[in-house]
Amino acid sequence: MSRRRSHKAQTIIERLKQKVNRQTLLSLEACVHCGLCTDQCHYVLANPGDPTYAPPYKAAKIRKLFKAHIDWTGRFAPWWVGAKSVFTDEELEEMKDTIFGKCTNCRRCSINCPMGVDMATFNRMARGLLVHVGVMPEGVAVVAKDQWEIGNQMGVLPEDYAETLSWMEEELQTEYNDPTIRIPVDKPDCDVVYTINPREVKYDPRTIAEAAAIFHFAGENWTMSSQGWDMTNFGLFNGDDDLGGAVARRVYESVKALRGKKLVISECGHGYRSTRCEGPNWAKMDLDFPMESSVITMLRYIHEGKIAVDKTKNTESVTFHDSCNNARSCGLFEEPRELLNLVCTDFREMYPNRAENYCCTGGGGAMSMSEYSARRLKSAKIKADQLKATGAQIVVTSCHNCVDGLSDLIKHYKLDMKVKQLVNLVAGALVIPESTDRVEASENQVIAADPPKESA
Ligand code: SF4
Ligand code: SF4
Repeated sequence: MSRRRSHKAQTIIERLKQKVNRQTLLSLEACVHCGLCTDQCHYVLANPGDPTYAPPYKAAKIRKLFKAHIDWTGRFAPWWVGAKSVFTDEELEEMKDTIFGKCTNCRRCSINCPMGVDMATFNRMARGLLVHVGVMPEGVAVVAKDQWEIGNQMGVLPEDYAETLSWMEEELQTEYNDPTIRIPVDKPDCDVVYTINPREVKYDPRTIAEAAAIFHFAGENWTMSSQGWDMTNFGLFNGDDDLGGAVARRVYESVKALRGKKLVISECGHGYRSTRCEGPNWAKMDLDFPMESSVITMLRYIHEGKIAVDKTKNTESVTFHDSCNNARSCGLFEEPRELLNLVCTDFREMYPNRAENYCCTGGGGAMSMSEYSARRLKSAKIKADQLKATGAQIVVTSCHNCVDGLSDLIKHYKLDMKVKQLVNLVAGALVIPESTDRVEASENQVIAADPPKESA
């Protein structure tokens, strides 16, 4: 007698058949169970002896469904290939615990897999299947709802956004005693439209002011938009391509409506990856403007002599945390380091770094899943040890999500360290010209160090 399936389980199986594509198929097929990826995962390293954190174990939760319902080997020898279906809502809850609660989609295991298995890609697909039937951590549901309904991840209302920009504009005018400093909104035909993470409005508005100061002293013709200003995209984390497409479309349409010539994305790893790399596909849009990380914009301004910086204004020791999305997934490795070496006197690497760096442990939307906080902070021991070994006073990262993940673990492990972003250090090192037409260089200032790089 065949077993009855719950409505949710049946829906997931039907949707799986639509969602498997060439990229996920290869990863679902290619694993040879060599185990080389196992000790690449921070969860495994922090939980020795617990096999449920091993990437192949976690992948098997998804692979068994693929084998049971799509792959031909599962029909002939299900016991041999580990094919197994799901029937009950309790089984879906167990999947949720692994797919959301034991993987940050950081892709560190993937770059160490000889077969090219991309765990994060099919884990994201599996999250999307569960989200489709309403099985997800509560925090994930709340954030996705805010982004669908209010237009940004943190539920920032239009009046709060406008008020914060105007407040920061006033602060800047007072700080620099310069009434010409503006934070323009909805100015058409600008060379740069600047998009931000709503966390900046809600918790860290100084980053908006610092970016505005940099644009101002660089003489940039720039604006922010009153619509589609949130470049973060929870669709990357919850696996919902429809949300991913809707959010990316809002951002692109705001640039088009203003006839902006370039979209500059503030420091946020998943925002950068979603908007610049994944968004055009999700939104199904051909874009006629380039997109650039603000890290590259700031570096370019120094190279082009548009701003001058004095590194002796930042003398505390600094290390750099590579955000998984910026670095491993988008290749932004060298630009932040080049920038750091121009704006601070004591930059030191943490090890391992670049593509091999460990996740901040708050990635993949983990900061919104409070039920897994204890697990997250336990796995953060790996990152805490890595930070501590640098002896640095400041850890810099180009990602608002990493700022939260790192701040939380620094507090938990009682590290004597602060978290900053590149925009903080660049703004702190600015040499303010008497006239914005020309900046004079002194011994410690850098002007037009090298030819400008291509925009990313
Ligand atoms: S390293 Fe790759 S092939 Fe080996 S177990 Fe891990 S995912 Fe499978
Ligand atoms: S993607 Fe990252 S968190 Fe997930 S299994 Fe691989 S190494 Fe672990």
